Amino acid sequence: MNFNTVKAEALHAAWLPDKEVTLNILRLDKIHAVISGNKWFKLKYYLRDAIAANKTTIATFGGAWSNHIAAVAFAAKEAGFQSVGIIRGEQPVLSDTLTNAMEWGMKLHFVSRQEYRDKSLIKQKFAQNVAYWIDEGGYGPIGVKGASEILDFVDLSDYTHIIASVGTGTMLAGLLLKTNDRQKVIGISSLKGNYSLENQIRALLPQQKAEASFQIIHDYHFGGFGKHPPRLIDFINEIHSFHQVPLDIVYTGKTLFAIKDLVQKNFFKPQSCLLMIHSGGLQGNRSLPPGTLLF
Ligand SMILES: *Cc1c(COP(=O)(O)O)cnc(C)c1O
Repeated sequence: MNFNTVKAEALHAAWLPDKEVTLNILRLDKIHAVISGNKWFKLKYYLRDAIAANKTTIATFGGAWSNHIAAVAFAAKEAGFQSVGIIRGEQPVLSDTLTNAMEWGMKLHFVSRQEYRDKSLIKQKFAQNVAYWIDEGGYGPIGVKGASEILDFVDLSDYTHIIASVGTGTMLAGLLLKTNDRQKVIGISSLKGNYSLENQIRALLPQQKAEASFQIIHDYHFGGFGKHPPRLIDFINEIHSFHQVPLDIVYTGKTLFAIKDLVQKNFFKPQSCLLMIHSGGLQGNRSLPPGTLLF
């Protein structure tokens, strides 16, 4: 697969110089037209592992608008694998994401929300032994290893804080493998009240990693995973019209909103240099009625 090189771009927003804070955004959304953002990084070593294990089928889990499902379907096809997607929700209303996944050859199985919770039962039912299973969202040490390569695109010594969106925390753990103890990694959780995250992330980190090196902020879920009230939509439209940066409604829109709010509340000391990871996910914006976003 061919990837574009990406870089950290400065955001020149009026609310930054007031507080003597600078913000660069690492535009992983530009890395590839289909597998954008953090998903390629998380998948990379799983695919290698599957090849080493002589598997011909990749199987995984996700929702109807899942960036992970889209990325696995495409990457599996490119790498010459069959793929299987276990999709949460009985009523198969085919989203654009799932339509694409099928076009890329993924076989979809719809399971009820209740059934979806028991992943080991699902694995038994659907070809456990034949397939190489990737956990939901690519969670696990192999995903972390790939995600750590995200920071190879920047000169890390420029930054005091690295800020990223969090689902499973796999990407955040990867970022933490590269940062030093004077840098703080901040995760903005897209899920409501997911207080097991901190432990999920610790479980992926080497023991010597300082406890204070990361912080998860749980205050910017906007009502829950996938929820996108008008003030979030307005913010995303405003950022695009002022700065031409497209954000997604599930992760990066919430993260930049959080950064702005935290800057304005003096969360960051003057002279702080922030790096936000734009982790992609723009394909999910297709779940909105046309015209909701202005881009
Ligand atoms: C999947 C995804 C995340 C979450 O990554 P985790 O490693 O699960 O925390 C963040 N941002 C975007 C755009 C994503 O698609």
